[in-house]
Amino acid sequence: MKKTLRVELLSHTPDAEDVIFAAFRQCYASGFVMDTIVNQRRAGTITPEERDRFLQDVLRTGHESPMEHVSFTFAIEGISRVCSHQLVRHRLASYSQQSQRYCVEEKELDYVLPPSIGRIEEAKEIYEAFMKHAGETYARLRELLQSSGCHRESSNEDARFVLPNAVETKLVATFNARSLLNFFQLRCCARAQWEIRALANRMCQLVKNISPTLFQWAGPKCEKMGICFESSKFSCGRKPLYQRPDENG
Ligand SMILES: Cc1cc2nc3c(=O)[nH]c(=O)nc-3n(C[C@H](O)[C@H](O)[C@H](O)COP(=O)(O)OP(=O)(O)OC[C@H]3O[C@@H](n4cnc5c(N)ncnc54)[C@H](O)[C@@H]3O)c2cc1C
Repeated sequence: MKKTLRVELLSHTPDAEDVIFAAFRQCYASGFVMDTIVNQRRAGTITPEERDRFLQDVLRTGHESPMEHVSFTFAIEGISRVCSHQLVRHRLASYSQQSQRYCVEEKELDYVLPPSIGRIEEAKEIYEAFMKHAGETYARLRELLQSSGCHRESSNEDARFVLPNAVETKLVATFNARSLLNFFQLRCCARAQWEIRALANRMCQLVKNISPTLFQWAGPKCEKMGICFESSKFSCGRKPLYQRPDENG
C-alpha cells in the first residue's frame, strides 16, 4: 500500500529557550546561574524579550554548544528506506527504527511512491507491479524458510534481502538543537534529495512553532549566511553565490 509522510513532535525539552539562555549566561557570569539569571527569569525581572534579544545576538556568533542542552524527539512514518538511510547518517542524533525482522509480515508491502513516477501512468504501473512482485517473493521466501525449520525472525531476517529501498519505515528520532540546526542546513537545502528535504522541512516547521527564537535561522545554510556555498551548477539561485577572495576579479 502506498504510504505518505507523517511527522509528529513527540516530546521536547520544556522551556528550551530558558535552558539555553541559562547555559549561555553561565559562561559569562561570575556567580552561580541558578542564584542570579534563572531566578530573575522566573521572577520576570528578565523578560522573554530581553532573553530573546540576548539569544539572537549570541547565536549569530557561532558559540553553539549551549544549544546541546535541549532536545527534540520526532515520531516519523511514511518514509522509505532510501530516506531513513540518509537520516541515520546524521550521527549526532538517536534513532529507534521499526525492525524488519519483527514487523514485515504482510505479502502486500507498504512503500513510498516518488511523485515523479506517480505522474507518469506507465512508470507508476511498472513500479506498482514491481512492489507487488517483491512482496510476493518476500512472502514465498519466508514460507520456504519457515517450512525448512527456520524461526519466524530468522526467516524474516533472510527473506528481507529482496525488499526494495522503497519499502516504508517508521522511527523515533531525537536531536539536540545544535545537531538539528546542522540537519536543517544540509537537508532543507534544494540540493538535498526530495524525500529527506520534505521530512526536514516538516521537522523544521514543528520546532519553529515551539522555539521561534532558537530556530529563527533554521533551514538551508543560506538562510543564516545570506549566501549560497554551492557551485553555480548546483545552486538553486535563491541567494547570491559565495565568491572566494581569489575569485574576485
Ligand atoms: C546533498 C547531500 C549529498 C550527500 N551525498 C553523499 C554521498 O554521495 N555519499 C555519502 O556517503 N554521503 C553523502 N551525504 C551525507 C553526508 O556526507 C553526511 O554524512 C550527512 O549529511 C551527515 O552530516 P553530518 O556529518 O554533518 O551530521 P552528523 O553526523 O550529525 O555530525 C554533525 C557534525 O558533527 C561533526 N562530526 C561528527 N562526526 C565527526 C567526525 N567523525 N569527525 C569530525 N567531525 C565530526 C561535524 O562537524 C558534523 O557536521 C550527502 C549529504 C547531503 C546533504
